[in-house]
Parts: sequence; structure tokens; C-alpha cells
Amino acid sequence: MTISSNDLDPKFKFEIANIPGSELIKRCFTCGTCTAICPVSNTFAEYDPRKIIHMIILGLKDRVLSSENIWQCSHCETCKFSCPQGVQLSEIMGALQNMAVRDKYVTPDAFEKFGTAPCKATCPVHISIQGFIGMITEGRYKEGLRLIKETMPFPGICGRICHHPCEMKCNRGKVDEPLAIEYLKRFLADRELEEGIRYIPEIEEKKDEKIAVIGAGPAGLSAAYFLAIKGYPVTVFERLPVAGGMMAVGIPEYRLSRDILREEIKTIVDMGVEIKTGVTFGKDITIESLKKDGYKAFFIAVGLHVSRGLNVEGENLDGIIHGINFLRDVSLKGNVTIGERTIVIGGGNVAIDVALTALRSGAKEVEMVCLESREEMPAWEDEIKDALDEGIKINNSWGPKRFIKENRKVKSVEFKRCTEVFDTEGRFNPQYDESELMTLEADTVLLSIGQACDMSFAKGVPDLDVSPRGPSVKDPITLETNIPGLFVGGDASYGPRSVVEAVASGKEAAISIDRYLKGEDIGADRPLEWKGIELEPQDVEHLDRQQMQRLSIARRKNSFEEMDLGFSEQQARLEAGRCLRICGTQSIDGR
Ligand code: SF4
Ligand code: SF4
Ligand code: SF4
Repeated sequence: MTISSNDLDPKFKFEIANIPGSELIKRCFTCGTCTAICPVSNTFAEYDPRKIIHMIILGLKDRVLSSENIWQCSHCETCKFSCPQGVQLSEIMGALQNMAVRDKYVTPDAFEKFGTAPCKATCPVHISIQGFIGMITEGRYKEGLRLIKETMPFPGICGRICHHPCEMKCNRGKVDEPLAIEYLKRFLADRELEEGIRYIPEIEEKKDEKIAVIGAGPAGLSAAYFLAIKGYPVTVFERLPVAGGMMAVGIPEYRLSRDILREEIKTIVDMGVEIKTGVTFGKDITIESLKKDGYKAFFIAVGLHVSRGLNVEGENLDGIIHGINFLRDVSLKGNVTIGERTIVIGGGNVAIDVALTALRSGAKEVEMVCLESREEMPAWEDEIKDALDEGIKINNSWGPKRFIKENRKVKSVEFKRCTEVFDTEGRFNPQYDESELMTLEADTVLLSIGQACDMSFAKGVPDLDVSPRGPSVKDPITLETNIPGLFVGGDASYGPRSVVEAVASGKEAAISIDRYLKGEDIGADRPLEWKGIELEPQDVEHLDRQQMQRLSIARRKNSFEEMDLGFSEQQARLEAGRCLRICGTQSIDGR
């Protein structure tokens, strides 16, 4: 390469170093560790991150910004934690790409063609999936877990119960089957648990402003986690006697080990977050009392802990129990007495959890009944299969007409044929054919037809705008409300969604609260628009997806033992090796 003095711009390296995340570029001593570890360099020799950094330090601005190579970085973050000098290659490549667009080295339409690996783009919290998978292939398990924990606090929990939208979009799916991303995440968390040394994220400089979080579910705990990282003193107030929200009192133990739940919450406590359980917002504390105690910002994430009713004759008879109350009692008290013949009304994931928990609590025969046809059922396919495998009969397209009693106690349920659940505009509007009826005998009926927000929280903050469904947000991106400094999120604000979406909500709340307390523009650069890039992989060898071992069906039915047993190390390495590792050309997550 011939270099003339006209090619050199000595300010270039300072320009880059002034961009947040790229500060350490000047420390590079061109050791080449990044290039050696980079999966893109290993596939395309012309991409050499070491060389790019060296050219920046020399000041070869035009050559760097006009080079196609800066677009080769897939932002997988495999190199993260590898550079002995702490240089962050992914951030620097992102900064170069933005600069190349800004200074018109590429046209904006060219930029449109670039995007992020679809797994990362689709993940609600945008985990660097390629990166942690790459680290598994190299046996860098602790670093892999650390990379995940930069974007979310619950790898072990989400490695078990996430609905894994990332896998639906995985480019490997076009070759054979998508990567088992969820299970690989679990592998890293389980390994840490086995080794008994937990990774505790680094805490930034301590700050003085106290923050109160109402609700210790996934949204509240995630907000607390990210605010603690920023150095804020955070207290989480929880009405229940345990922390975790629905993760602790809704999701049954056979799906989510309480050991992993405890450990991941303990990490948050070890980061300095105080969790006060058994404190009811609106009764024991209010926003005014918290303000008097010196709290400067608030996040309300109270979840959906009230079961919806049916408004059907006989609904209050003995033996009819709300499904989420049943799950909560089983979680908190252990065994709950239940009739031998149990009917579960509902067709969602919670109804399946209720049905499988009923089997484990002594019911001999469990039948589910729901309005929806088999194809319309809101429960995920895997969950439905688990229920069928354990012998639960599912009666589709029936709605309850009345509960029939014998001495104040439910004896049977009469159902009417449901002919349509949704109207032509997709609204829930069930229609029935009352000439077709069915009666099922039952000792216990468990109702699982949806959850609502317990509005008693509003007594703690009478000035907050609320709707009949829960607290109202003024801005669904920043989660601001009509009260400055008070933010709301999680299921209570947007309706029932998954744990990982609650984590994403808590994370956004933490960004908003930090900006609010610093007096910054809360809405600046939000929302980030993620665009996944679909590949058409050519000539990729077929490799079977690894299958996770499970407890036998016979053993599952009688126990709350976790039914999925995790990947062995060999399985995790084989599965990680299936990742294409070259998906995506940019990452927009610079915060
Ligand atoms: S690993 Fe770090 S110090 Fe070594 S060449 Fe890459 S950026 Fe420079
Ligand atoms: S982020 Fe990935 S592709 Fe980019 S330099 Fe690092 S290892 Fe290579
Ligand atoms: S192949 Fe790997 S990087 Fe590509 S989408 Fe799938 S998990 Fe993500």
C-alpha cells in the first residue's frame, strides 16, 4: 500500500475516539487477536479488523470510509472481551459505517441494504446471539454469559420459557432447522449455576437519586437491573411474599427451576438492589410517601394478577377455582387439594400450565375445554403437544353455558357449541349454536380465560391516568405517563405478553428514568428500528439440530421436577457449530 501525506488525516483517530463506545481505539497495539478470533475474517480473508484499526490510527480516512470492508463486520461481538486493550471492534465498525453514510461515501439507499442478523433483530431485547454462540464454539462460556447479561438479566429463565421469536427468523432454518438459540442460552446459565460462581455486572459510578420500582416481576426486576448498572440506588416493592412475579407464582416449577429463578434474582440483589416483599402499593406505600422518603423517579409494573370471570350461571360454586390463584397457591404453599376429575376452561398457555399442574396435584383425569378450534388456540404448539402427551384431552370449540351443582358444589359443566370466536374484523366476539350441548362431570373446575390488572394499585397514585385495563402510558416507547418522573410498563400497561417482552419493557423504562434524572431528552433516537437481513445460504452442509433430553412422560406426570434436562457440553458445542456466523452487516444498538 502506497501512502502519501495527502492521504493522511491525523484527526481521524480522535474523531473516532470521541464516539461513545469507540474511546479505546488509541490503545490498539495491532496484536491481531481480533482478526484471529473473528468468524468473518476466517471466512473472508479480505476483512481484517486489525488492519482497519491500524489504518484509522494512521489517519487513512478516505481509504477506510470508502472501503467495502467496513461493511463486512457482522457485529456478532465474538471479539468482545478478547482484545487485550479493551478495544470494541463492533462499536468502531458501527461508527465507521455511520460516518461513511453521513459523509456520503455510500449513498443512503446502499445503507438500506444493510441490516442486523435476523436473530438479533427479532429478539425483543436484541441479544448478540451470533456472539454468544461463537463464544460457545470456542468454549468461552463465561464470556458468552456475560455478553447475554449485557442485554438482559435472565438467560437461565429465558433459556427455558422464552417463545424464541429469534429462532423463527434464523437463516439456518433455510438450510435445515433453526439454531436452538433458547437452549444454548440455557446451557450457559446452567453451567454458571453448576460452577457456583455468578457473574455480577460491573456497576458504573454511584449516583444519589433513589428510584422506586413497584412490582418485582420480569419488567420491574429488569428495570432495577439496568438502573443498578447505571449506579442508581433502587428499591423494588412487591406485594407478594416472593420476588419474580409470574415467573415465581405463575410459571410452574416443572418448566422453570426455582434454583435458576432464585440465582438470577440473587444476582440483582447482589448488585445492590433492595427488594422488599409483602408491601402493597396503595395500602402500605404511595407515591407521596415514597417521595417523602426521598425517591426521585418511579416505575410501576404491577403485572396482571387477577383472573377474568365468565359471567355464567353457577360460576361461584364451591370447586370452581381461578387458574392463576391455583398456580399461585401451588407455588407458594406446595400441594393444593384438587378433585380427581378436573376440567380446565381456556385454551392459552396459562390454561395448559394449569392443566399440567392439576395432573401433578392429584387429578386423575384432566380435560381442557376452549372456545377456539385446535388451529385457533392461543397456546403455543409445543405446549399443546406436552398436554396431549400427558394424556390431557382437549375439547375445542365449546363455551360454558352453566355450572351444575350438587349441595353448593360443582358437579358438572354444560357447554354449548362455539361456531365462531372472532368476527370478520378479528375482534373477540364468540357465536354459539345452543342446540348442540355437551355435559362434562367434574369435581374441580379451573378457570383460565385471561388475566387482568388489579386496579387497587391506583390508590397509591390517584393522579395517574388509568384505563379500565390498567395504567395509561402517554408514550408507549418511553413509557412516560401524565406524571413527570413516573413510568409504567410490563403486562399491566400493554396486556399479556411474554417474559422477554417484559424484560424489554423494563429495559426501556431504565433508559427513560436515567435520561429523566439527567435532564436529557427522554425520546431522543427512540425507537431503534431493527432490520434483520435474510440470507439465501448456498452449499451449506446439512447438520441435524440437537435435541434436548426430557424426563419420560410417566415421570413428568407425577412430579414437579423440571421436564427439560438441558444440553450437555458436547451437544451445546455441536449445536453452536451449526450457526452460519456471517448473518448481518450492522448493529444499530449503540447504547
Ligand atoms: S485485539 Fe485489540 S489490540 Fe489487538 S489488534 Fe485487535 S483491536 Fe488492536
Ligand atoms: S464484531 Fe464479529 S465480525 Fe465484527 S470484528 Fe468482531 S468478531 Fe469480527
Ligand atoms: S445462523 Fe446464527 S447468526 Fe444466523 S440467524 Fe441463525 S443464529 Fe443468528
